[in-house]
Amino acid sequence: MIDLDQHRVKPGDRPNLSEIPARQDAGLDSKADGEALLASNVERIDELQGRLWAEGRRSILLVLQGMDTSGKDGTIRKVFTGVNPAAFEIHQFGVPGPHEIAQDYLWRAHARVPRRGRIGIFNRSHYEDVLVARVAKLVEKSVWKRRYDHINDFERMLHDEGTSVVKCFLHISREEQFERLNARIDDPRKNWKLSPSDFTARADWPEYREAYEDMLARCSTKQAPWYVVPADRKWVRNVIVSQLILDTLEKIDPKYPKGVEDLEALRTFARDHRDANG
Ligand code: AMP
Ligand code: MG
Repeated sequence: MIDLDQHRVKPGDRPNLSEIPARQDAGLDSKADGEALLASNVERIDELQGRLWAEGRRSILLVLQGMDTSGKDGTIRKVFTGVNPAAFEIHQFGVPGPHEIAQDYLWRAHARVPRRGRIGIFNRSHYEDVLVARVAKLVEKSVWKRRYDHINDFERMLHDEGTSVVKCFLHISREEQFERLNARIDDPRKNWKLSPSDFTARADWPEYREAYEDMLARCSTKQAPWYVVPADRKWVRNVIVSQLILDTLEKIDPKYPKGVEDLEALRTFARDHRDANG
């Protein structure tokens, strides 16, 4: 069993990322065990999302953050393959376009919060506005400093209105990132999106680490906790994220709405109807 508690950032704690191993086995004996658990989690997620949808009152928002190559796209593919695609709303947050920078920074995130009954996934998110915006000095310190409080208020509002917010920081080591970036150079399926900036961003690793630590320290709340997911091993990462979604669904425990009052009358109606057509 996966101990999610061990990965959750407790409100008030400030994780030291250089002391948290990115390469872990999450208490599983082997990759085969991890893959078996992932498969059974996916089946359960699919079953429960059907109830979430039918109930139509609540939703889940999964936020994925992490350095380049930490596996945000891969996590989405592996954890949700096998779940009804209609259950999801997946959004990728890139450099804000003209309509987006014409608004406040939370506007585009709020507009993409999942509808009731759905599971929303943010591949990057409003947290970029305290990460890249801070490290690349896109805004002044006085501006990004205030944003942690805005974000906590925003997420508390979502929680109060029926959206369970869960956030995963995919934690990879600098060495693993280098391996993955290098592997991309020779892979035609991946090198089309590489740029020198992917390598120069690595130079800012310490600044990013500090920005991530502040984000985890300031914005892991009871309503919307952050999880530090060890991500050097892909199968460990996948199984932890799947467990988190499954546990969140189980906690919500969505119920199928009660059907029509009189099922017997419906059966009679169906029988008569069949006979009439027979
Ligand atoms: P990718 O996820 O690899 O497609 O890259 C998306 C890029 O958009 C990353 O380099 C992000 O840092 C960047 N990005 C996302 N959100 C913002 C933002 N709010 N401000 C500036 N850059 C952003
Ligand atoms: Mg990416």
